[in-house]
Amino acid sequence: MLRTYRYRMYPTQEQQAALNEIIDMARWLYNHALAYRRKRWYESRIGVTYNEQSAMWRDWRNECPDDNPLRLLNMSAGQQILRRLDKAYREFLKGKRGRPRFKGRHYFNSLNYKPGDGAGLKDGKLYVQNVGLVTVKWHRQMPDGKLKNIIIKRKPSGWYVLLQVEWPNVAIQPSDKPLVGIDVGILHALALSDGTVIDAPGFLRESLKKLRVLQRAVARRKKGSRRRAKALHQLATYSEHIANQRRDWWHKVVHWLVNTYGGIALEDLNLTFMLRNGHLSRSTHDVALGLFYEILDYKAIEAGVEIAVVNPRHTSQMCSGCGVMVKKGLHVRVHRCPDCGLTVDRDVNAAINILQRTLG
Ligand SMILES: [Zn+2]
Repeated sequence: MLRTYRYRMYPTQEQQAALNEIIDMARWLYNHALAYRRKRWYESRIGVTYNEQSAMWRDWRNECPDDNPLRLLNMSAGQQILRRLDKAYREFLKGKRGRPRFKGRHYFNSLNYKPGDGAGLKDGKLYVQNVGLVTVKWHRQMPDGKLKNIIIKRKPSGWYVLLQVEWPNVAIQPSDKPLVGIDVGILHALALSDGTVIDAPGFLRESLKKLRVLQRAVARRKKGSRRRAKALHQLATYSEHIANQRRDWWHKVVHWLVNTYGGIALEDLNLTFMLRNGHLSRSTHDVALGLFYEILDYKAIEAGVEIAVVNPRHTSQMCSGCGVMVKKGLHVRVHRCPDCGLTVDRDVNAAINILQRTLG
């Protein structure tokens, strides 16, 4: 499995200018390759493959004179961008996302290098081709495994490098800790089969309120105006802050989960979204469930805790005491069974069903 380690980078003014220029070239390549795909489709209804675009990119780059800025972009870093576009297209064709769009200056902020090919770790710094040795703050220990990707990101708060490292999978430990079922996102962020409920933290709700104020401020400003640019920058900075808050909070929650339980059963999130048909609670959108699954996935592997994913169908309607169906709308907070008399938080009832599904 791949694990990602994030570090802050401190490029000099000169290095920042160089990085900005490379990102600009990367964006040019993305947009240019996209334009070609559209043109070809328009003219001949023939799709374009990644291999074809990769060969084109090689030619473009080789035919450039040495002082052409396109030369600044490393060959394989350019290929990563074409892969990104190719993936976007394949998902689009499967109906999983909208048509890939041209990227504006503020919507293209990262570069992906293969270690040793345009970027690498050297003398305690990060080497980037055509940029030089960049200072990095190694706030936690460097990973041990094999380095697979070096991703450079430009954010409102500064520059970051993401190191993706291959980790061996840890064997699942036989455990005497209890098993738990988890239901996500109707009344609570998480509800556990032992009755524990976890709600979105208040500070996150406050942050999101402030975010909506900033969004409205952007909408009010005139397009192209300096005040709008300033409002957009504030919005981007604040969005990043919230993303960090969420990530920190989920890390704490997940850390607690994998230390408390020996095995965890969850709903298949894709099916859950389909079944609930958009009826997830406000708090679910607030906390970003996808992020929870992502963090749990690698923390559980690291801790040797088994994860079981189950089909969520009927988990909220079925009585976890006797199995009878008890229909209830989304606003009903308590499960009350007319047959066996069980009375319990509706999400906890679902969590018990989820756990039982893995045992059954
Ligand atoms: Zn019952």
